[in-house]
Amino acid sequence: MSSDLTEKALEHAIANDELELYYQPKVSLLHGRLVGAEALVRWNHGDRKAIAPDLFIPLAERAGLLQDLTILLLDKAVRACGKINAAKAGLAVSMNVAPDDLESHTISKLIAQYLEQGAITANDLQIEVTESAAMGNFERIRDDLVQLSAMGIKTLMDDFGTGHSSIDRLSQLPFNSLKLDQGVVRRMGTSQQNLNVVKSSISMARELRMTSVAEGVESAGAYNFLIANGCEEAQGFFIARPMALDTYLAFVAEEPYLAGSPVGRVHQAIYNLMYFRKCLLDATFCRKVDENDLLPSVMEPDSDHSMEHSRFGAWLANSREQLEGYQSYRELERPVRQLFEQGEVYMEQLHANADDARLNELITSFDKQFGYIIQLLHELERALLLNTKQHF
Ligand code: C2E
Ligand code: MG
Ligand code: MG
Repeated sequence: MSSDLTEKALEHAIANDELELYYQPKVSLLHGRLVGAEALVRWNHGDRKAIAPDLFIPLAERAGLLQDLTILLLDKAVRACGKINAAKAGLAVSMNVAPDDLESHTISKLIAQYLEQGAITANDLQIEVTESAAMGNFERIRDDLVQLSAMGIKTLMDDFGTGHSSIDRLSQLPFNSLKLDQGVVRRMGTSQQNLNVVKSSISMARELRMTSVAEGVESAGAYNFLIANGCEEAQGFFIARPMALDTYLAFVAEEPYLAGSPVGRVHQAIYNLMYFRKCLLDATFCRKVDENDLLPSVMEPDSDHSMEHSRFGAWLANSREQLEGYQSYRELERPVRQLFEQGEVYMEQLHANADDARLNELITSFDKQFGYIIQLLHELERALLLNTKQHF
């Protein structure tokens, strides 16, 4: 560490407002639009280049300055949310915090106040904790994560793939998302094995009812691979570098759109629909195995059962601009809406212990509709593949 990065200098920097948050955009891979940004702190130290957080966060921790730093940065993030919201609604800012911030309840208490004052809504702010910090401080941070989650604040496990999570412990913390480590994401192009690490992390997140976010996305190839494998959000130099707030506000105003490969998205749409059907069958299977010992977890309809909240619905609603030239796409909406309604009725009937004849009737008509939709999606997939150049 450089000799002028001392505790005194950092204390001075906090008091003199030398710390600034930069914002790195995140886009949804379901539709290619901006969904928010990660806030990353920079220290503007004299005339030299801004100092990166890895160099001074550990110093703040050792010097007992972390709490002051967090309070200051959270205040900046909240103010930024106001400006970002004014530019465009619905974009979140995610902040990085250390285990001490959670254990001391600094974060949850302040956020509760901001929410109460109406300075932010729960969708404006998200919290990131690294996997190694989360796993190494499991008991210390759990309370605060639970409280944040009760307030509706989304939490993300950062740098996933570097910190020895066990699935059991991971599922005991109320994280909403797994953020795949940038090293893991960058290495995925180097071997089949590394590619499979990314694929299995994405499917594990899905099974744990979490979304997956990839960081360190540096190329079109990585971006398109992640789309085709069901990752939900991406962040990285391919999309944009971290930028000062004013630059980010100008970026937001441009309504950036990173379409990526539409074929990969159709492929995912098919997969999501199959997954939806599998959930219905799993629930049925559990009922059959032992009627007196229903597995409530399998029976519980998850958000994918409503079209509006499903991954499929998000893709369908946001692909209009790119795909409305395709007949098979235009025909999708009505049958898909009916399919989701049929799924809901089926789950209701299953819960109400309807007899086999009734369930058979419902699932048969569901499957008929399902077959028609899959046919449309296959047509769309073929049409897009044959026009690859135009639509990539
Ligand atoms: P992180 O949360 O994993 O943040 C991602 C880091 O990767 C950032 O480094 C970002 O600039 C960099 N990055 C993003 N996309 C790419 C890419 O495509 N390629 C490459 N090579 N790098 C990319 P940064 O800003 O230096 O932050 C380093 C770490 O410091 C962060 O890692 C986070 O753990 C921590 N940090 C940042 N801001 C704060 C803060 O306000 N509070 C706390 N406690 N920690 C912070
Ligand atoms: Mg982070
Ligand atoms: Mg990270």
